Amino acid sequence: MGAEVKTTCPYCGVGCGVIAKVDETGTVTVKGDPEHPANFGRLCSKGSALAETIDLDGRLLHPEIKGRQASWDEALDLVASRFCEIIAQHGPESVAFYVSGQLLTEDYYVANKLMKGFIGAANIDTNSRLCMSSSVAGHRRAFGSDTVPGLYEDLELADLVILTGSNLAWCHPVIYQRLAAAKAARPGLKIVVIDPRRTMTCDIADLHLAIRPDGDVALFMGLLAHLAASSAIDQNYIGAYTEGFGAAFAAAAALTSDEVLDRTGLPAMQVREFFRLFETTEKVVTCYSQGVNQSASGTDKVNAIINCHLATGRIGRPGTGPFSLTGQPNAMGGREVGGLANMLAAHMAIESAGDRDRVQRFWNAPSIAAKPGLKAVDLFGAVEEGRVKALWIMATNPVVSLPDARRVEAAIAACPFVVVSDMVRETDTTQHADVLLPSLGWGEKDGTVTNSERRISRQRPFLTLPGEARADWWQMAEVGRRMGFTACDYTSPADIFAEHAALSAFENDGDRDFDIGAYADIQQPVYDALEPFQWPQPYGTEARETRFFSDGGFFHPDRKARFVAVEAPATDRTDAAYPFTLNTGRIRDQWHTMTRTGKSARLSSHIAEPFAEIHPRDAMELGVADAALVQIESSYGKAIIRALVTDRQARGSVFVPMHWSDQNSAEARIGAVIKPATDPVSGQPASKNVAVAVSRY
Ligand code: SF4
Repeated sequence: MGAEVKTTCPYCGVGCGVIAKVDETGTVTVKGDPEHPANFGRLCSKGSALAETIDLDGRLLHPEIKGRQASWDEALDLVASRFCEIIAQHGPESVAFYVSGQLLTEDYYVANKLMKGFIGAANIDTNSRLCMSSSVAGHRRAFGSDTVPGLYEDLELADLVILTGSNLAWCHPVIYQRLAAAKAARPGLKIVVIDPRRTMTCDIADLHLAIRPDGDVALFMGLLAHLAASSAIDQNYIGAYTEGFGAAFAAAAALTSDEVLDRTGLPAMQVREFFRLFETTEKVVTCYSQGVNQSASGTDKVNAIINCHLATGRIGRPGTGPFSLTGQPNAMGGREVGGLANMLAAHMAIESAGDRDRVQRFWNAPSIAAKPGLKAVDLFGAVEEGRVKALWIMATNPVVSLPDARRVEAAIAACPFVVVSDMVRETDTTQHADVLLPSLGWGEKDGTVTNSERRISRQRPFLTLPGEARADWWQMAEVGRRMGFTACDYTSPADIFAEHAALSAFENDGDRDFDIGAYADIQQPVYDALEPFQWPQPYGTEARETRFFSDGGFFHPDRKARFVAVEAPATDRTDAAYPFTLNTGRIRDQWHTMTRTGKSARLSSHIAEPFAEIHPRDAMELGVADAALVQIESSYGKAIIRALVTDRQARGSVFVPMHWSDQNSAEARIGAVIKPATDPVSGQPASKNVAVAVSRY
């Protein structure tokens, strides 16, 4: 038998450790890594089926130019020369990268450095914009940094776990397993699920609040006012470590009880019970995910939640804290290197002249992006308007996943020069590429990822590299070199990781949260053997588990946190023409647009085709039988999907999974129906509360 290789699952942000083994016949087996602190040997259905998704069927194995096979030299020269020409003619803002939380940190680092430090613009955004950018914005407003304060074990140590906007059972299954096991061992642990849908996560809930979409801000404002009125706030913590409580409290107190009930759509008795549980429980963790983030009020939701934890001092101690659950395997790593258009590397701020100067000097870069770049929805708007003339898309499928997807597709199709780096030959996006660059997949990639609890783990290769596929960082370094930027001339992921670690420590006197300076001199053998560790890990320290903020130490200049005075938005977006509310999300056994999980018959047997969940009364009034086709339509587009009639769905609403595209199920692309509305602070699209019409097809 071959040797066992310790690596990390490439799907969700839980970041489970996986042990892979290849036998003499080439057969791959996987099992959970019992020593990995994220999962202690557990895997979910997707992780367990990894070996079923790594065949070469459908792989992109050679560079292509306009559909014909090309050499790497020819393809890379063309990419470099077209980018140079367009920049020379139209300036650095006329080119853009759209990358992905599927990239490894080393890939992300090179992409960010090439764009922000050498091309000199910040038009690099990522599908993580669709995933957790509202959490980033909320963290930065409250903490002065994008810091997740706690650890997964806090969910097990808490006496009350609140899951809002999170179908943990399907979207972060191993965290759900850990929480369910904790509750089985200690039934006194209370769980509250806040979700318009009665999802599988509700199976372990003591209380399910079937809230109206976007009612979260009002609910947590009501909670803040209740905590203050009940003298359940921690005046010492507020006084010593925070600013702005008065304004946040005044805004919350101005919202009447009736307005809280109206915005949330919840019965008064349930709201009172939720408030009582929070008020009377010292160890509270509030987890939030896409139901919070993917909203026109996503950032305010995050801050409304954080306000309640700051007000009670329930943060940074075992079993306490607000906890953002990241969607993708390396959305966190992307944040660390500045993979968002409005961030710099190592959690530095692009708005800060001092930070820009620091990064430019560290990189010895000819220029540095002077202002934030275009966020995802605006970036594709600029492609449509012709302001962006060269676009490099890496490891993502925006033709399916972005809102107003048909318009995005038309914009990409009309863009003068499109490069797509992917491991899959035929995706809805690759068909519009001028140049296709073959990338590595799981089992071939070599680098690091960061999970939702700030834990950095290695993804290690154990498969022979197929065809001519090469790492994404290598592709960018080669293009950078051909554009005349030798500073991107790396020879290994270990080199890149060392530079990333050194930048995190550069002129960092503890005034920035992200610091892994202990690895600034890392050499290949140590990198190869790197054990999972949590950041921060400054130079001269030993790896240890850490929490932030139990005794202040925030990252605003005065080291205090900020309460944010939020406003409760109107929650009903429907009208006579579009009387239903569309909500989208994941299912248990598929990942993103199914280019990998779709290969596993076992995974596809869970749910074989797209569906539209609809309440029985709505179905009856529409004359729609279970399994009949329904049309879901907005002013942006339509999709035709089979009805799944279920009382898990609230009346007046419909849920459709995000995974299917027109390519694998005709007219099932729900992204085509979603309005491109975004949160005004984070720019994250709002795909959980879209007004639509539903009719029998
Ligand atoms: Fe992979 Fe997430 Fe499942 Fe863990 S929980 S095995 S990281 S998909």
